[in-house]
Amino acid sequence: MATETRTPFEEQRSARPQVRPRTEGWTQAQDSEGRPLLQFASPKRGKPPEHLADLTVEERVAKVQELGLPGFRAKQLSTHYFTHHTSDPERMTDLPAAQREQLVAGMLPPLLTETRRLATDKGDTIKFLWKLHDGALVESVLMRYPGRITLCVSSQAGCGMNCPFCATGQQGLTRNMSTAEIIEQIVRANAAIAAGELGGDPRKGGKDRVDAERVTNIVFMGMGEPLANYKRVMDAVRTMVAPQPHGLGMSARGITISTVGLVPAIKKLADENIPITFALSLHAPDDELRDELIPVNSRWKADEAIDAAYEYYAKTGRRVSIEYALIKDMNDHAWRADLLADKLNARGKGWVHVNPIPLNPTPGSVWTSSEPHVQDEFVRRLNAAGVPTTLRDTRGKEIDGACGQLAAADETDV
Ligand code: SAH
Repeated sequence: MATETRTPFEEQRSARPQVRPRTEGWTQAQDSEGRPLLQFASPKRGKPPEHLADLTVEERVAKVQELGLPGFRAKQLSTHYFTHHTSDPERMTDLPAAQREQLVAGMLPPLLTETRRLATDKGDTIKFLWKLHDGALVESVLMRYPGRITLCVSSQAGCGMNCPFCATGQQGLTRNMSTAEIIEQIVRANAAIAAGELGGDPRKGGKDRVDAERVTNIVFMGMGEPLANYKRVMDAVRTMVAPQPHGLGMSARGITISTVGLVPAIKKLADENIPITFALSLHAPDDELRDELIPVNSRWKADEAIDAAYEYYAKTGRRVSIEYALIKDMNDHAWRADLLADKLNARGKGWVHVNPIPLNPTPGSVWTSSEPHVQDEFVRRLNAAGVPTTLRDTRGKEIDGACGQLAAADETDV
């Protein structure tokens, strides 16, 4: 009998419905060669003004000197910016009054204009909408958790990776953000925290609780594909970890870079020697589905992306994360949990953990998140197979600040 020759995977495959982006009416935009449309190059637009945070320590000194002032002023400006989160000349009383305006105009030009802010009821999550110098819009999301404060930052205005379930992916790429535009999101979040604007319970005393009231963790899970804006993102990471006053003095371990799976860039990242956390947005272990769900799978297949993630672990010793948005009847089948576990275990033990997250449906989305019992079963199977797996929470849903919901529409545009 035919059924006797079926593999267990096939057996289970037939038991559950299988929806796909295409069957649900999604049409994949294509390039001139008929391949899924992906935008790697940033469209040309006017460059954002050059800012202290775009420059190395030496370049900052040189630029201050170009402005006709002694080089040591660069360090004072850096302290104001990175340590005291201010670009306000009025507050820079250690600088000669006559030179402040000029120094600030030349070194700390405005980069982000806050155009809207949304907060959850408890106030422990804030979504900022920023307008860039050319009118492009980006968002960041600030979240207080017990013992840490996380900022979800954007690395591009829009995104060129075209993932059908992601609000930003559906916008297309407006442009890459500059290093300083990436950093400024953190500085502005720190300013908001210092002003007491982030609700929730501030951390209390204790010797490991110094610096409590600053952003402690960064996730590159806002708008954009960070590895498609590699150089600026890495320069920003270097400034995040540079000790104060030359940088933000953050711990690299608290910084997570998440990617759709740009394999050559993952390999480069592994050689950077900065102990950041690496996350791969896999979302399907099989190419059949991943080809549709993550259009970049047309360039680098699921196995190549998993191999690159493993290589990251092998080179850095840092455990990597696999992200997996659970979409009802799309990628949440038990056989996929088993296949994922098999593929991860085939490469080794203890090198990876899986972070499923229930899909946050985007406006107009035909897909929904998996049923809770299906989510639980997915997680259970991976854990049972020895792959540490924890369901991620979906903070900020009610303010459209959850993963994949960042679309950056201005009130005036909608
Ligand atoms: N370009 C990067 C960062 C994007 S956002 C990347 O793809 O990894 C960070 C995570 O949110 C990614 O894993 C992304 O796939 C996921 N995501 C996107 N849309 C989502 C949605 N609607 N619901 C849940 N997660 C989503």
